[in-house]
Amino acid sequence: MVRSAQQGVRREEGVRRTMRAAVLRGREDLRIEDVPIPEAGPGELVLRVGAALTCGTDLKVYRRGYHAKMLTLDRLFGHELAGTVVERGQGVTDFSIGDRVVPLNSAPCDQCFFCRNQQQNLCDNLLFNNGAYAEFIRIPARIVEKNTLHLPDSLSFEDAALTEPLACVIRGLEESGVSFAAAGGDSAERTAIVLGAGPIGLLFIHAASLAGLQVIAVVKRKDQIAMARHFGARDVVRISDVPDPIAAARALTPEGRGADIVLEAVATTETWQWAVRMARKGGLINLFGGPPSGATVTLDTNLIHYSDLTLKASFHHTPATARRAFDLIVSGRFRAHDFHTGMAMIEDLPKVFRAMMTRPAEGVNAEIKTIIFPGGLPDGAAETAAGRAGDAVAKGNAGAMSEGGGDEPAL
Ligand SMILES: [Zn+2]
Ligand SMILES: [Zn+2]
Repeated sequence: MVRSAQQGVRREEGVRRTMRAAVLRGREDLRIEDVPIPEAGPGELVLRVGAALTCGTDLKVYRRGYHAKMLTLDRLFGHELAGTVVERGQGVTDFSIGDRVVPLNSAPCDQCFFCRNQQQNLCDNLLFNNGAYAEFIRIPARIVEKNTLHLPDSLSFEDAALTEPLACVIRGLEESGVSFAAAGGDSAERTAIVLGAGPIGLLFIHAASLAGLQVIAVVKRKDQIAMARHFGARDVVRISDVPDPIAAARALTPEGRGADIVLEAVATTETWQWAVRMARKGGLINLFGGPPSGATVTLDTNLIHYSDLTLKASFHHTPATARRAFDLIVSGRFRAHDFHTGMAMIEDLPKVFRAMMTRPAEGVNAEIKTIIFPGGLPDGAAETAAGRAGDAVAKGNAGAMSEGGGDEPAL
């Protein structure tokens, strides 16, 4: 094993022992430093990171300087990535040097009560991995074994890296009664209202529409209107354009009865309350966005009782939803590359995060996902980015109702 380790990164990198990596040193204190190149222990892999993506959860961690479940200070940072195997530890047989893979950011134990109860996302011993914003990353044995997938040649690293956030969204939809197992998806002509058009809101809009739902998006910024439509929203309500966003969204549902499913992806207490009022009788509300801890909401008990409403929330993903997310991306039906609105070198990451902190002025496009290329920008990348910027879509977009907050509570 030691030998194979030396044949991996060491051989490729010659005498190199360190790599450039993002380290979170404190609140809003992200530094790019030289740290030791990781080595693969038994069952582990070391990947050369092909591409990593920025994420609302990372922004939240950056703001607070910590994450209760995911990571503490002075640690490597970033969790959405895909890359190439450069070293494999003893006992790894499913992966070889040179394989292109996407590792999820966690893996369940499959032994605790929650795992045995088909709720692996709630595993008591969920193992998290961070360090995507680096030239190399070590993948723990459990993630190698349970949650690392091979990329087909046709799939880019950056598109594959969307597997993790989409896996959270797919689980949220499945828990809301939407099926991705059937080829045709949801055929019942059901209506979903999606609150929010940040990265997670847009993933919900796109995935729900691909599943056959009629999607009504509720957005804040003007530029999000085109973006929501691009990803499949049938109708869009911009909250500042209407006197009453709840009434406006309900009016767009069949017979004005309210949505079958309401998906909250803003993470404010106000939008949690709106969401409950947008559902039809017998409808389901998935409160996906996580407001700051300690937040409380007031709900109309009569409304919930007499309307027979189902309120639920969703956290994280499971190996099964990760695979369904990955398959959807591989199929090409899911337009992964349209979520990539910017790209940067790792040295620019602190600047990227500082920019994510400020909401762009009206009319200025915010980023959905910025691709970080730790190995340097690929040839032609700049032109590709420019081309995308001019896309009809509009990379118009995000910032909006997402505001980092719980935009990706999923983690
Ligand atoms: Zn994420
Ligand atoms: Zn478990």
